[in-house]
Amino acid sequence: MSYITINKVNFFHNLELLSKKLGSPDKLAVVLKDNSYGHDLTLIAKLSKEFGIKKAVVKNEEEAKEIEEFFETIIVLNPNFKTKNFSLVLNSKEQLKKIKPSQKIHIKVDTGMHRNGIMINELKSVFKSIMKSGAKVEGVLTHFRSADELSSELFWQEKQWSEVKNKVKDICKKQNLPLPLFHSANSATVLRKNSYHDDFARCGIAIYGYHEMPESYGEFDLKPVLKLYGEKISSRELKKGSRVGYGGVGILEKDSIVSTYDIGYSDGFLRNLYPNLLGKVSMDSVSLLGNSDEVCLINDAKELAKLNNTISYDVLVKLHPNIPRISKL
Ligand SMILES: *Cc1c(COP(=O)(O)O)cnc(C)c1O
Repeated sequence: MSYITINKVNFFHNLELLSKKLGSPDKLAVVLKDNSYGHDLTLIAKLSKEFGIKKAVVKNEEEAKEIEEFFETIIVLNPNFKTKNFSLVLNSKEQLKKIKPSQKIHIKVDTGMHRNGIMINELKSVFKSIMKSGAKVEGVLTHFRSADELSSELFWQEKQWSEVKNKVKDICKKQNLPLPLFHSANSATVLRKNSYHDDFARCGIAIYGYHEMPESYGEFDLKPVLKLYGEKISSRELKKGSRVGYGGVGILEKDSIVSTYDIGYSDGFLRNLYPNLLGKVSMDSVSLLGNSDEVCLINDAKELAKLNNTISYDVLVKLHPNIPRISKL
């Protein structure tokens, strides 16, 4: 059967690198949304805890519940506000009416990405509404739109973020409230910068061993954590000129042994443009030259991403949760 290995040594290596950049593992919140970018939510949560990580970020309450036992703080990016557990991100003013007493709220502020979050000039009234509903402002966050691009946009957005923090500090002083936790950086921001003034960063792709920044930012010593293996279903000897798979587009240049492996696009394996593959990816299989019992189909997700005109995130996150994940030392 096909399977995925999760390399614990590489995972810890990436966590170590990021913790060092940030100054401490306490300043690193691991982003485990979408089945930990396809790596397996519970397995990655368990390993993160073993390393000493205390904060995680997920998409919804269902994900948060699955990993509750592993973290002190779990931040839910897109909550339904039905639970008092977890730290819930407020993405708009409209969501204020959903907030219940004693919930822990992280206010997301739109500093230029214009995707989610309240506007800077709404901070004061949003703080007031949250206090009125008996909930607590535990955090204030933003998200940068261009951290992985070669431009000065990040610096422009950081200026807006500075303004947000000053406003919040001012509000808290006047209302005699404790300061919330500030967080803004994603992986690219952490890798690019040398100093941090926030309480923690939210890192996803880098903990799994990837980044999508231009080469001019230099090399970062990240190591891919996941490998995908397929197991042989069958082999056959074929003559030169034989055509393999749908449409017969895989044409043999000489007499060869061809084998089929149990990974296809139903497993989330992108359909296009694989070197070494013979013909098209089928729903449940791929064909290759040779007759090894198993083959490694993903070693570096970024190579496959490039060939498919997409990013590493996209290749990883699509891997079907039913493929068994095995932790390897
Ligand atoms: C997904 C996400 C992150 C992590 O981004 P990476 O580029 O994978 O590090 C951080 N913050 C928010 C709000 C996110 O949605």
